[in-house]
Amino acid sequence: MTDKKNRTSIPKANKIRAELQKEISSICPFCDNSDVGHFEIHHIDENPANNEIDNLILLCPICHSKITKADIVQIEVFKKKISLLQHKDNKINSIKNAVNFNSKVDNAIVGDNINIAISHTKKIVKQKYPEGCIGFDTVKANYIGYLIKRYNEYKEYEVGKGQVNYAAFSAHLKKLYKIGPTRTLYNLQIEKFDELVNYIHLRIDKTKLAKIKGQGHKNYSCFLDYAT
Ligand SMILES: [Zn+2]
Repeated sequence: MTDKKNRTSIPKANKIRAELQKEISSICPFCDNSDVGHFEIHHIDENPANNEIDNLILLCPICHSKITKADIVQIEVFKKKISLLQHKDNKINSIKNAVNFNSKVDNAIVGDNINIAISHTKKIVKQKYPEGCIGFDTVKANYIGYLIKRYNEYKEYEVGKGQVNYAAFSAHLKKLYKIGPTRTLYNLQIEKFDELVNYIHLRIDKTKLAKIKGQGHKNYSCFLDYAT
């Protein structure tokens, strides 16, 4: 029940859903069922605030519940998404290869001073986060993701496996830094990185599991170790 409450709605949900449905060709990518009344959206990193399309996968409700119960493990979901994305790229490539840009095109422009540019289909990597925020720095952004994951893992010890509300801690951090609902923690200014890191370190160190492990135990890699 708390799960639903903390779930942020996906911006442009219909458009994203349509794109995801195209990606799986309206067939559940896990069980190949094409007779699915309503496909469900799963957040691959289990962070419901991360609504980037690469973090979402559409699947049937049965397979979705299998993920929830860890009958399908996260790494399998990752692999599936990657293969769907590769399949998409292959489609683009086969279209590209079907069009012959050579010979005749070159002949046609002989003697022409106008520079004709043939644009190749390239995957355009959209810059998701502007310069100056944590998301712009991949290593720092990944480190924050790593720490949040570590916190949730430690919390899992306290409340039991499957009982951790993965959205809650990220939502708490967002609230702490007054980040609006349409933005993510990674929109936080890079100047706040150290402060955020120290705060999450502190929160991990204050968990029951950290206390049990004792002060000498390293509960996470420091940023320098992580980055190298
Ligand atoms: Zn399925």
